[in-house]
Amino acid sequence: MKKRYFFMAFMLMLIVLTSGCLSGNFIKKYGTNITEYNLDLTLNDDHTIDGTQVVKYKNTTSKILGEVCFHLYANSFSDVAMNKPVSKLYETKAYPNGFSAGGIDISEVLCANQKCSFALENLDKDILKVTLNSPLYPNDFVNIKMTYKIVIPNVLHRFGYSDSSINLGNFYPIACVFENDGWDKNPYNHNGDPFYSTMANYVVNMTYSSNLILASTGTKKAETKNETATKTTYSANAVRDFAMVLSDKFETLSEKVDGTQINYYFYSDKQSAKSMETAKKALLTFNKKFGKYPYETLAVVETGFLYGGMEYPNLVMISDSLEKYDDYTNTIVHEIAHQWWYGVVGNNQFDYGWLDESLAEYSVVVFYENNPEYEIFRDVCIKNAITSYTLFVDVYKDVFKQVDTSMNRKISEFATEPEYVYAAYVKGMIMFDDIRNLIGDKKFFDSLKNYYKQYGGKNAVPANLIAVFEDTSNRRLKSVFESYLYGSAIIGNVSEKPAN
Ligand SMILES: [Zn+2]
Repeated sequence: MKKRYFFMAFMLMLIVLTSGCLSGNFIKKYGTNITEYNLDLTLNDDHTIDGTQVVKYKNTTSKILGEVCFHLYANSFSDVAMNKPVSKLYETKAYPNGFSAGGIDISEVLCANQKCSFALENLDKDILKVTLNSPLYPNDFVNIKMTYKIVIPNVLHRFGYSDSSINLGNFYPIACVFENDGWDKNPYNHNGDPFYSTMANYVVNMTYSSNLILASTGTKKAETKNETATKTTYSANAVRDFAMVLSDKFETLSEKVDGTQINYYFYSDKQSAKSMETAKKALLTFNKKFGKYPYETLAVVETGFLYGGMEYPNLVMISDSLEKYDDYTNTIVHEIAHQWWYGVVGNNQFDYGWLDESLAEYSVVVFYENNPEYEIFRDVCIKNAITSYTLFVDVYKDVFKQVDTSMNRKISEFATEPEYVYAAYVKGMIMFDDIRNLIGDKKFFDSLKNYYKQYGGKNAVPANLIAVFEDTSNRRLKSVFESYLYGSAIIGNVSEKPAN
């Protein structure tokens, strides 16, 4: 996600580096013999969805499973949720028409065509635990069919509708990750993107009113349309989530770049051609600097959203309320960078939110220095980030007498949104520039390419990133990374004390 925190300036520094590349067989490698989702959805005029979903779930663990758990993130939008998606600070902006509740009601679950029991867990009933009728052995599959009704709230969020559009992000039941002998059941949080999932294949049938235009993860496979209703089928292989946005106002621009079809959906952007150009250049730049984007499509979607933007596999949401066009450009680039850091290389965004955010934010710097026509310069950008960061730390120290600047915390452990943003985004950007200055450009970009190649299709943890940088540069960098992650680095004039 991209939050608005300050306007960045950047500087040109042309560096010619060879292209790293992720295997062209990415989809085949990571999209074979994995969990499959088949969704059949009907979007009603009253902003509800009737859905059936068959998950052909694969046990990728070494354990015999008696249950499978799913996140029901939609239930965090209920009126009684404890872990709300919107903080007090943003409530008025998020709900312009007053609070509006959303959620998902599961009416039936079948396991291998037999009725099976299910229960809702967590404080906010945001976990669906399905008890299997027979044990699921490692590498075996089970078909879990669920029937549900979704209520979309009137909120400017990743799951919600506005006057202009309907955002469907994190709206359907998605399997929790099983690791360390248990299911990851982290709840929602208003800080960051509290999500964690693994690669799966999707086929999604969506029926909706014919006055709407659909932007989606994946590739359109079929469409039937009459005067009132349209049914569209999208499929996506080896993606870690699936999102859609609908609007009756969408205009579109499309272009094929480096083998990827970019579709730009917009309604109020007065500089749409320029925005499309930015999206194209971002894809080209990151293909060259990090390794090739392995998918056929990328949807860049202007939509109602209270923050700057939000990333999903093959689809990025860009807020229609960004006042400065430069911020709109920044957000396009930041969210597209997430296709590499989050989309292809995944991570637990609840436990290690900084891991993809800091890389996405530093990728914006990389974009500008490789596209000098934007006249945004790397050294100015880093200088501004340091100034802004030290100011934040000073003010926080004054007001709260202390500040925890450690980056490596669960997103729920950050006291405020600014604290999270300055640690994960701003400090993260400064950290990568520092590492780059230490090891030099070639080893820095080789490290990012190796990280992309080694962890593409998988979920990485911070130790993986540090190990790739150390192996590639042949330097001991763990203590440098950790000084940032745990808060003892000296940035600007601020000497930080390690967090307790
Ligand atoms: Zn982000």
